[in-house]
Parts: sequence; structure tokens; C-alpha cells
Amino acid sequence: MHLRDSLREKVSHYQQLKTIIEQINQNLSLDSLAEDLVSIAFSLVGKKKGVCILYLTDKESRPNLFKTKKENKDLIIKAKEGDIFDFWVIKHATSLLVEDIHKDFRFDPDKLSADAIQRGILSLISCPIISPNNRFLGILRLDNPKASFYTQDDLRFLLTLCDIAAVALENVELFVKTQELAIHDELTALYTKGYFLSRLKEECLRTTRHNRMLSLLMLDIDYFKNYNDRFGHNVGDIVLKTLSQIMVDSLRDRDVLIGRFGGEEFVITLCDIDKDKAKEIAEDLRKQIEEKRFILRRQESHVTVSIGVATFPQDAKDENELIMKADKAMYLAKVKGRNRVWCI
Ligand code: GH3
Ligand code: MG
Ligand code: MG
Repeated sequence: MHLRDSLREKVSHYQQLKTIIEQINQNLSLDSLAEDLVSIAFSLVGKKKGVCILYLTDKESRPNLFKTKKENKDLIIKAKEGDIFDFWVIKHATSLLVEDIHKDFRFDPDKLSADAIQRGILSLISCPIISPNNRFLGILRLDNPKASFYTQDDLRFLLTLCDIAAVALENVELFVKTQELAIHDELTALYTKGYFLSRLKEECLRTTRHNRMLSLLMLDIDYFKNYNDRFGHNVGDIVLKTLSQIMVDSLRDRDVLIGRFGGEEFVITLCDIDKDKAKEIAEDLRKQIEEKRFILRRQESHVTVSIGVATFPQDAKDENELIMKADKAMYLAKVKGRNRVWCI
């Protein structure tokens, strides 16, 4: 390429950086971010020729192919866990430019992957994606069947792109984790109250639209304060986790949402289930919990639960009233002596 053209291209790339940073940082999912990264690298650095691969590394810094962009869309990349060039980038935590893989003394030609030989790679360019606090996140790599396809300028630009990618990847990771936290309760992994309520609202609307019914169980552990006092809060926490697991396991084959509503209060929606069937399911749960023995710190114990049942739309006009009714039924189960199911 002419020196002037090359300079013009370089200026154009850097002028686009602001737009690239904005575009990349708008992503809220790993998948769309990865798609942007390979697309940008493939068109700006790879000039839409050859292949661009994004590897993400696991905790042991092993690369896993995550996204590709290819000139030949039918081409299959077999090196899903990287090759000698990717391992080199990981080992040295630095970028790599190879003009001709058969002439580069750093790499043993006998160790070339079958994939690299089959694809006829001659030149490649590769950069590590390393977070600001030095976490190795992945590799962005491009390769081409022509020798000397990539320049030092390409390498510098790819490095800049990888720096932007590192920050964006960590942000997406954090966003996904925060979202997870808002949806799942930390102790039991069941849905949180907020998320459960929003889903219940949707389910009630859907139930109305399809002219069906939905039952709600409200479950509260009996005398759990006493249990904690006697066996300790940590043992109490194990009980909460175990009960959650019992609910998940025994309702696995049904269309349900299970939430932790408060400390030791749980809610379960049963879609398309009428009150009689809901009562049966609740009774089965109650019995399973009553029969479960906890042997913790060499002491055997067990807990019981009181369960309230209400059904939409026969007992309530909307999700809020349904919750109120199930709560009332649960309260009545307590009043009537606990360790029982009560229907409104
Ligand atoms: P009952 O429901 O039968 O009326 O009596 P209870 O003693 O269970 O009363 P209540 O439901 O009002 O008490 C809730 C107790 O649950 C208080 C607290 O000790 C316990 N609890 C709430 N959240 C947690 C938690 O996250 N871990 C543990 N270990 N205990 C919790
Ligand atoms: Mg209780
Ligand atoms: Mg309670």
C-alpha cells in the first residue's frame, strides 16, 4: 500500500474510535459485545479477508472459541481451544504478529495445528485482552492465507481495540452478575420477591388471556424462630436451602415459579392447576418436609410448614389480591394448629 494511503487509513481508523467505543460500551450481553468485537476487528484490521476469532479464557487461562467472523462463511474452524500461536499470546501476555508462519523461528512448524495447515494460514495477528486489573480475559486474533497481510499499524490498532474490549467485557460481566443477583436469592437461588411479583403479574395476565386458572401456594416454616434459637442461625440457613431444594425437585416437571418471599416464607405459582389439585400438591410438599430429617452437628431435627392456597381468578381479581388471599389462608393454617394446608 502507498504510504499516503496507509496514513489515510490509519487516520480514518482512529477517527472511528469514538464511535467504536460508544458502540462497544452499549452492549449489555456478552454475545452482542463479542459480535461487535469480531465484526469491527474483521472489517478494520482484517479488511474483511481471512478469519477473525475471539477466544475467551477460563479461570485456568485456557482459550475457548467464542465468536468468529469469516470471509468464507462455510469455513469451519476446528481449533476450538486455540493453537500454538494462541498459547504463545497467553504465555507471554503480549501481542503477536507473524508474517509467515513457516518462516518464523519462534514457532516449531511440526507443532502447527491441523486446522492451521488445512486452512492454509500464512500470516496472523493476535492480541491478548487483559483487564485493567490484570485479568486475562481472552484473545482477539486474525489470520490470513497470504503472507505479510498484517502490519505493525494493524497490531497497534488491534491492541487499542483489545483495551476497549477488556473494559467492556468486565462491564458486561458485572451487569449480568447484578441482574442475576436481582433475580435470584443468594441463599436459596430461588426467585427474589421483586422478580417473583413481576413474573406473577405476567402469569395472571396470561391466565386471563387464555381463560385458564392459576393457583398460588404461600408457605411459612412453623416456629422457625425457636428452631434458630435452639440449633443456631447457620443450621437454620441449611434448612432453608434444603426446603428450597425439596420444592424445586418435587415441582421440576410442572409449570411453576418458586420464590423466596421473606425470611422463611416461600411462594409458588402453579399454572393451569385448579384448587383441588393445588391442595394435593401442597399436601405432598408438606408431608415431604415433615418427613425430612436434618442431622446437623450430630443432632437430629425436623421442621414443619403451614401452607395457604388461593386460586386465580376464582379467589382474586389480580395478582395482589391473590397474594393477600394466599397469605390469609396461610395465616389460617397457622391458627388452626400449623403443619397443615389451608385453602381460602
Ligand atoms: P410461626 O411462623 O409458626 O408463627 O413462627 P415463627 O417463629 O416461624 O415466626 P415468624 O415466621 O414470624 O418468624 C420468622 C423467623 O424466621 C425469624 C427468624 O429467626 C427466622 N428467619 C428469617 N429469615 C431467616 C434466614 O435467612 N435464616 C435463618 N436461619 N432464619 C431466618
Ligand atoms: Mg414462620
Ligand atoms: Mg414468617
